[in-house]
Amino acid sequence: MKKYIIYLWTLPIDLIIWLIILIVYLYAGRKLHYNNGLWCELNVRPKRFAGITLGHGGLLCKDFSATILHHELIHVEQYEAISLLCCLIAILTGLFYWSLYPIIIYLTGFYIAYGASCIVAWLRGEKPYYGNIFEESAYSQVKGDNDGKRIER
Ligand SMILES: [Zn+2]
Repeated sequence: MKKYIIYLWTLPIDLIIWLIILIVYLYAGRKLHYNNGLWCELNVRPKRFAGITLGHGGLLCKDFSATILHHELIHVEQYEAISLLCCLIAILTGLFYWSLYPIIIYLTGFYIAYGASCIVAWLRGEKPYYGNIFEESAYSQVKGDNDGKRIER
């Protein structure tokens, strides 16, 4: 039950994301399912990615594995934490300086944090994707995970 409290600060972002996922589903979707978010399994298996987390949900390649879903669900947990931080920053900032910026920070905070982490990884001489802290964390948590024990929540 406590996990639904998280939706207090993510729901506005999730509603936008779920609309995007539904639009993608109409054009390139194979299946929709809900597992701590709305996921659209695509008709295709793109070469560049197996899954993309957009918030509470995202896009998964055709015939995705349990390991891929586990990886994406770790990104959902990251999204929940970063979104709370950005929500608090937006509220505190809005108390002193009311404008559109706090709302933009709130709505885009997770993606800005992910992009910033890619830039930092690149500046360290690592690959932006594999070197960013979000991917390092997700890959290390699913390493050797083939039983899917954390898939259903
Ligand atoms: Zn990832």
